[in-house]
Amino acid sequence: MATLDTLKRALLQKASATTSTQKQPLSDEQYRVGLDIFLQSSGWMTYQDFIVPQLIQLLGPLFQSRLRISVLEIGPGPKSVLGHLLDDQKQKITKYTAFEPNKVFASKLKEWLHSNPFPCLEHAASINLSAFTSRFDLYKKPNPDDERFDVILFCHSMYGMTHKHEYIIKTVNMLVEQPGGGMVVVFHRDGLRIEGVVAHRVTSFPTGIVSIVDTDKDLDRFAQFIAGFSAQDESLRALWRSVCRDLGRHDTAQPGNLLFSAPEIMVVFTRNATAWRLSAPLMKENRKVKNREAHLRLPCGIVQPTGIVDVQDCTGWALENKTGLTVMGGGHSGHCLWSNIRAIDMGTLNKAHVIASGDTKPGPLIVVESGCRAGDIIRKALADGLTVPLGARPSVGAGLWLQGGIGHLSRLHGLACDAIVGAVVVSVESGKVLSVGYVPDQHRPHDAVPLEDNDLLWAIKGAGTNFGIITSITFKAYPTPTYTVQNWVLSFNDMATAKAKIGEFDNLIAKGLPRSCSADAYLFWNKDRLHLGITMFETSMATNCVTSVALTRAYKILGPGKSIQIVDSMSVFDTEMYMSEMHGGHGGGKTSSFKRCLFLKDIGESKIATILLKAIENRPTPLCYLHLLQGGGAIGDVPADATAFGCRDWDFACVITGVWPREQDGTKEETAAVRWVYQISGILLPLSTGVYGADLGPDPRDAALAVKAFGPNLMRLARLKKRWDPCNVLAYACPLPAPPKDPKVIVLVTGESGAGKDFCAGIWACLFTKSNITASVSSISEVTKCEYALATGADLNRLLNDRTYREQHREALTAFFQSQVEKRPQLPEKHFLNVVHSATDIEVLFITGMRDKAPVATFSHLVPDTKLVEVRIETGSEVRRVRRGLKPAKDTLKDKNYAPQDEKDSLRDKHDALKDGENALDEWDYSPSFVFHNDDEGGLPARSFFQRQLLPLFHPLFQQLAGMVRQIPDFPKLDINFRHVLGISQSRGGLKLCTSLLRAHCTSDWTQISSIVCVETGGFIFASALALQVDVPLALTRENGKLPPPVVSVVKDTSHISGVTGQDQGEKTIEMEVGVIPKGGKVVVIDDVLATGKTLCAVLKLLIKAGVARNDISAMVVAEFPFHKGRELLYREGFGGVNVQSLLVVGGV
Ligand SMILES: Cc1cc2nc3c(=O)[nH]c(=O)nc-3n(C[C@H](O)[C@H](O)[C@H](O)COP(=O)(O)OP(=O)(O)OC[C@H]3O[C@@H](n4cnc5c(N)ncnc54)[C@H](O)[C@@H]3O)c2cc1C
Repeated sequence: MATLDTLKRALLQKASATTSTQKQPLSDEQYRVGLDIFLQSSGWMTYQDFIVPQLIQLLGPLFQSRLRISVLEIGPGPKSVLGHLLDDQKQKITKYTAFEPNKVFASKLKEWLHSNPFPCLEHAASINLSAFTSRFDLYKKPNPDDERFDVILFCHSMYGMTHKHEYIIKTVNMLVEQPGGGMVVVFHRDGLRIEGVVAHRVTSFPTGIVSIVDTDKDLDRFAQFIAGFSAQDESLRALWRSVCRDLGRHDTAQPGNLLFSAPEIMVVFTRNATAWRLSAPLMKENRKVKNREAHLRLPCGIVQPTGIVDVQDCTGWALENKTGLTVMGGGHSGHCLWSNIRAIDMGTLNKAHVIASGDTKPGPLIVVESGCRAGDIIRKALADGLTVPLGARPSVGAGLWLQGGIGHLSRLHGLACDAIVGAVVVSVESGKVLSVGYVPDQHRPHDAVPLEDNDLLWAIKGAGTNFGIITSITFKAYPTPTYTVQNWVLSFNDMATAKAKIGEFDNLIAKGLPRSCSADAYLFWNKDRLHLGITMFETSMATNCVTSVALTRAYKILGPGKSIQIVDSMSVFDTEMYMSEMHGGHGGGKTSSFKRCLFLKDIGESKIATILLKAIENRPTPLCYLHLLQGGGAIGDVPADATAFGCRDWDFACVITGVWPREQDGTKEETAAVRWVYQISGILLPLSTGVYGADLGPDPRDAALAVKAFGPNLMRLARLKKRWDPCNVLAYACPLPAPPKDPKVIVLVTGESGAGKDFCAGIWACLFTKSNITASVSSISEVTKCEYALATGADLNRLLNDRTYREQHREALTAFFQSQVEKRPQLPEKHFLNVVHSATDIEVLFITGMRDKAPVATFSHLVPDTKLVEVRIETGSEVRRVRRGLKPAKDTLKDKNYAPQDEKDSLRDKHDALKDGENALDEWDYSPSFVFHNDDEGGLPARSFFQRQLLPLFHPLFQQLAGMVRQIPDFPKLDINFRHVLGISQSRGGLKLCTSLLRAHCTSDWTQISSIVCVETGGFIFASALALQVDVPLALTRENGKLPPPVVSVVKDTSHISGVTGQDQGEKTIEMEVGVIPKGGKVVVIDDVLATGKTLCAVLKLLIKAGVARNDISAMVVAEFPFHKGRELLYREGFGGVNVQSLLVVGGV
């Protein structure tokens, strides 16, 4: 199936070869008919599956951040595609301008606009019946308002435009200048070339198909639409029809139709499109890359770094301009270059250093810069008698070892990524240089930040193209072996014999090989016969060949084979069958290829062998082949979750390789070969044990493969991607899914042993599930129990399930945990995150077994998008004793040696408190969010507590309120995503909703409250509205000098947030009038936001100074930003006992 571009080229070629041709521009009507045919065929599918969903997703955040959206659409046709946006998005469009030179379309567009598709337009839509022109001064700033837009859209309207970049430059200059800017969005057939402008994002849709009815009339109309002009003479029209019939594909599913491939692309530009200068040197001419997909792309300059500083410069530039980057290693993948995206060619950083054994702790090592190719490393190591397990081809680059690396040494030493011990990385999160794992001192840049956290090293070992720009890798090196290489090429006349031979190869040869051997197989056709090629590699530390048991066995089964070769680790590259035997060696000369690789077990099993043989029988071009690289051995020694490379259980990596002669590039043979690769991958996928991530990229056809690329590690990687590449700078690497959302609410169920924590948590989780809110219970202490059992030999099963047994170990278990925390102070945080991250796809998580004193204050910043609450279960000590299976206290008091467990606990607690510092905490230093008294048997009280306190946390009104908090990117500074909490009061109904929620959740009895304390400025708005409703007077707190004396005052530190928002920093004094709160009165403090907690802390101090008792104060904020650890500050300052609630929890800064 040819692409529409191939078809267009062929049509134009015929036209130029026909001398008599008169080119007539298409009339408006001819254009309309052509478009109709196009859309009525499967062209509309492209809109439905790509354009509309992409627009909805792309414009979502922009529309969310604005009250009004203005749109300019260039060439919308008879109606705007924006009519397919979501209703609430369409309601934001207040200004719509279009340029539509086609009179037929323009009048239809006007008609369509009369149906009111954008209901909130503030002026009538403006339709210019003329072509949009880029002619006047490109860089001239337009008039402030009427010529500026939030969104400018070219949806298939760039075809006739020459100098397309001028249109982009002109339109990006017409974007609004507000924070977050606007965007120019272009949809076009893939292959769009716009030089010299930087895209914010590029997304492709390669699977679009156009299906045309194969009649002369339809083909005439379609051909002229694609060619862009009409053919006057019938002879050319006839030629065009035969071109269409020749290039189009017939499909039995659509008889009577011709199918063409219509790959599509979306390119998005922002005001930064022209900001493409930077100080790092750019390549004069674009580098030629081996990969054909990458070769076709037109990057926005390729940076050639002279050192790490240039890589940092480029990363900083990408972060500042909110664009992506691609990185070029050996250039073998399709993702190292992308059109309109800047690339960094690491080729100039290509030094390798061997560090001999004895010089270093883990030696021998080899430190390689990222521009090295496999051959460079092997050559360098060989000179010192060393090697590294890499791949089979010398030209492949860093993409191999960062994403796995399968080669002839894998069975002996593991994958290339397994040999990585350290790396130097330019962070795409901060632009800083990081050193992870073990990097020898002399190879660690002086400004590199050493990273304690091993997560990044873990991720680099198997998924390393997604988390930063790696500038060097430190490998563990091994003594270099000698390779004995033996090839066999067997040919077959029938499939049954071939299948039997594959079975013999797998079961009798491959499965019995020692780790020092590996056997690869190739299935290919040559001279009309099916061939099975086999290469056996045997490594030995001896320098001369000894025919081993394995080879002797193989001879028996496969026959004598070709002449044996004994080679070193450089020469072994040339022994590969693809290079030496297949199709006349190296594909017989100049070829292009496309491949994907899946992991298989038991290839000799009939079902898999049949699929492989059928696949090769149905190859679309003679050169396509399957390459099976042997796995097992040391690859499987590494646990699946020990590195990011999570697919460890396979016998063979099956590389499905579509190959075609280079002169067939861009023809239907290429399309067919690529389609075959995906088709066979799709058939093998369900039978595979994983997929090799190395060749996968943002192509949607890779999505299903990428899901299986990392085994059990996918979600951990997704989380790490958000952590290490939050702006998606490396957007074109192997795709990772969006990280799973943390639960909306986490309830920490705490209390003493025997209080009934698990019992209550179980009931509440069940009740949530019955209310259609997904919930689960996890115990945080399980992991400690596992570690304790391992360390002491205790029975884990009984520790988890047998209460009496657990009681016997309770003290020892507590001591064990405390000793662990002393060694690893971050352990409680790690345990907490492990529990949260292992609970995916639920809305409420109950965590039991928590030992921390003030868990909400300590942990809420770790889950900044989640509402974290603590329910403490309280029960009388006798009830607890009975529940724990202990005798009642009165029966044991006579025992002199016996100290009741609770007494022991309380003694220990006191001891701990004293140890913590002189100022041991009193009862008001910390209180949980809720207390539940669980003395009664049965679940009734727990049920009523659920209805009263827990279910309301999910009231839909909270969601409605959250929807009113607009996010404004890059305000007031770059990279700050401002949440406009006060904007709630500017939304229709916002203040009313917020007030009613405050009223319902602050207290159940407003008659008990004597004052509402309000905090300048945000608090004034919400507190005033609340005061009006509940009829309680306000008590104002203000900066000094604003209230009449006498006043009480305290000093308040301004938060670092005030600093970033450009407000004053340093100290301020806040004041309140003396006597405004009656003696003994209860108060509620109201503020808009709880972030660092400094303001609330100062207000609480002020209240205490004014004589208000601590237990008479509670506080409520509209939105809490846990990221800033406000609750921790309140706790540290002694206000952990004040009940502080928030209506909304807002993630981010
Ligand atoms: C002819 C051929 C033979 C192959 N043989 C083998 C083999 O024997 N064993 C095997 O396991 N695989 C093999 N592969 C697959 C190969 O591992 C992948 O194609 C790999 O991605 C190629 O890496 P590269 O650096 O050459 O390509 P590139 O296209 O330059 O890079 C691949 C990916 O890595 C990223 N990347 C490169 N450098 C860096 C860096 N410094 N920091 C961050 N990201 C970076 C790129 O952005 C890109 O996403 C082969 C591929 C081909 C085409």
